[in-house]
Amino acid sequence: MLLDVKKIINAPGEKIDFQFDMDLSDVDFGGRYPAQNPVVVTGDVRNVAGMLLLQFTAETTLHAVCDRCLKEFESVKTVRHETMVASELEDEDNDEILLMEDGVIDVGDLAQTMFILEMDSKTLCDEDCKGICPGCGVDLNQGDCTCKKETDPRLAVLAQLLCKDNHQ
Ligand SMILES: [Zn+2]
Ligand SMILES: [Zn+2]
Repeated sequence: MLLDVKKIINAPGEKIDFQFDMDLSDVDFGGRYPAQNPVVVTGDVRNVAGMLLLQFTAETTLHAVCDRCLKEFESVKTVRHETMVASELEDEDNDEILLMEDGVIDVGDLAQTMFILEMDSKTLCDEDCKGICPGCGVDLNQGDCTCKKETDPRLAVLAQLLCKDNHQ
């Protein structure tokens, strides 16, 4: 999505609104593809006292899978971003300013980059998710672990035998 802002570069107080959808369904986030729904980007570029200011919101509903309990759930993800835009950098090290080329801003590229940067490296259905017991596979959010308590009597005998073996 390219945005031509030439007509407001020299027009303080003017602005250009934009809205578009991004398809990030094939973007891999840690082996998963949670952005199955379109990411809706809305924003504007305004000329504030001669400076161009770009701001936008990118929002979608992610198909998430909890890293701890593997439950699937939907999660609304909203990313907001604001940056100054200039046609050249006075200070090379200033990465707060977005460069435009010939009065055109690549808003699509920026929105995609910012959205991907803002994705959480961990996905949890809940901050307090207890996860799954690696021993018995019980979802610890639903019930208690059964690993230790329910010992099969035959296994108990075996365990004793093994225990004796180890002590001989
Ligand atoms: Zn969970
Ligand atoms: Zn267990």
